[in-house]
Amino acid sequence: MNKKIIIVGAGLGGLASGLLLAKKGFDVTMLEKNAQAGGRLNQLKKDGFTFDVGPSFFSMSYIFREFMEKCGVEMPFRFVELDPLYSVNFRGSDKTYHLYKDLKKLAAQFADVEPDFEQKMEKYLKKSGKLFHDTVDIVIRRNFNSVFDYITALMTVNPVHLPILLKTFWQHVNSHFESKEARQIISLVAFFLGRTPFDTMAIYSLLSYTEFKHDGYYNVEGGMYNIINGLVSELGKMNVSIHYNTEIVEVMSDGNKLQKVIDQNGQAYSADIFLINSDAAVFRNKVMKNPRFTDEKLAKMEWTMGYLTFYVGLNKKLPNLNLHNYYLGTNYEEYANDVLVNPDTLQKPYYYVNVVSKHNADCAPEGCESLFFVCPVPNLQYKADWSDKDDIVNSILRDFSERIGETVIENVITKTIFTPQEWEKKFNLYKGSGLGLSHKMSQIGYFRPHNVDEKFKNTFYVGASTAPGAGLPMAIISADLACERILGKFNAT
Ligand SMILES: Cc1cc2nc3c(=O)[nH]c(=O)nc-3n(C[C@H](O)[C@H](O)[C@H](O)COP(=O)(O)OP(=O)(O)OC[C@H]3O[C@@H](n4cnc5c(N)ncnc54)[C@H](O)[C@@H]3O)c2cc1C
Repeated sequence: MNKKIIIVGAGLGGLASGLLLAKKGFDVTMLEKNAQAGGRLNQLKKDGFTFDVGPSFFSMSYIFREFMEKCGVEMPFRFVELDPLYSVNFRGSDKTYHLYKDLKKLAAQFADVEPDFEQKMEKYLKKSGKLFHDTVDIVIRRNFNSVFDYITALMTVNPVHLPILLKTFWQHVNSHFESKEARQIISLVAFFLGRTPFDTMAIYSLLSYTEFKHDGYYNVEGGMYNIINGLVSELGKMNVSIHYNTEIVEVMSDGNKLQKVIDQNGQAYSADIFLINSDAAVFRNKVMKNPRFTDEKLAKMEWTMGYLTFYVGLNKKLPNLNLHNYYLGTNYEEYANDVLVNPDTLQKPYYYVNVVSKHNADCAPEGCESLFFVCPVPNLQYKADWSDKDDIVNSILRDFSERIGETVIENVITKTIFTPQEWEKKFNLYKGSGLGLSHKMSQIGYFRPHNVDEKFKNTFYVGASTAPGAGLPMAIISADLACERILGKFNAT
């Protein structure tokens, strides 16, 4: 009989691991808390509209391709490259910046505010590119077995990058650009890591290279949830069963071996190997009762911000919008320094709007538009009361309406709001922190919660809060790394 693996959680990390392990001959069963797969990469269907719930684009598309090749399956979904990558508008300005990958076209956008933009951007991206290529295989795409192993790997990174370790993302961008427009737009990508450019290390400027030069950003034909539909369909072909509405709340063990996981109804599931896709720190705390992950320890860790997301169906089209649109204010530094910790920041929020129906007509009824808003907000550590959510959402919709010169509130047919409370409850995210643990020096690489359990030798972790970190390509790399651990230790039979 083939060895049995239980995967707790059917997020992207869990599903991708399930596929590779099933292909390698393991007998895989998945247990998912919610009624559908996908975790944060989810879909909401309501009143004739379809919305992507979390991620709306991704970088490093080749990571998906390589992983599918490893699994021996054809890509089960189709990418669409974005051009422009996104658009940015500052409050009080009629101008909208379109962020093209073509540097000449991009430079033309900044011609009136940043002289020699093209040369400056070339120089900036050259550095970011070198940083990317000198670190990605050494630090991101590999497992570490000890601090020594990790430090030894870091020591092989080209020392030319050492000075950047002392800078924040913001300081680094400031040393290349002078205008507030260029500085703010180029540093926006730090928000994609769930913190701000002011508290994100400059080493993450490698993300600028991934967005503008290396591979760009991608969307998925038919909506992002087709990634999940594709994976679930491939898993079905491999006879992997996914039990929905099944939340693991307890475990049973014998010495250093986990034997069973138990769901909310007391149903027990046994296996030879367990792979946990629930947040790697939260599961160790809540379910494993691991003494290294007590409530006090979790509270001392650094978590990413929360997200206020809302999904709006309009009975009209908004032809002047792009697929991805950012709306910024006029107090970037003050806003960024406050947004993680100060609920008052929300009086003048910054936000992002995704128009999923722009390229996917099926996502909205004819003549209608499907909008998905994301607003960075303090997580529940800093704002526990969300009784003001309707006021905040309406103030954003009013601001949006003014900025695009269209009526909006009057045209809303359907509206669904997720505050960090919903994000926490739905996906067991610590205090509703959208991306899990932050990526500060002491929480990355070997110092991130490991993908092997401290006590149970047959238990592994995959996903955003274990190595290497948050984001869709990282979830796939995480699956690759977790499977490498399992395949290195167990045979399928
Ligand atoms: C609003 C938002 C926007 C984002 N935008 C982007 C983007 O544009 N591009 C990008 O690359 N990334 C984006 N991300 C990040 C990306 O969504 C995540 O990094 C990635 O989806 C995480 O996948 P995962 O497998 O680690 O975990 P999850 O998606 O959290 O999956 C974990 C699964 O485990 C289940 N689970 C939890 N606990 C239990 C339990 N006890 N028992 C059973 N099941 C359990 C959960 O229900 C969930 O299905 C965004 C995230 C958010 C919140």
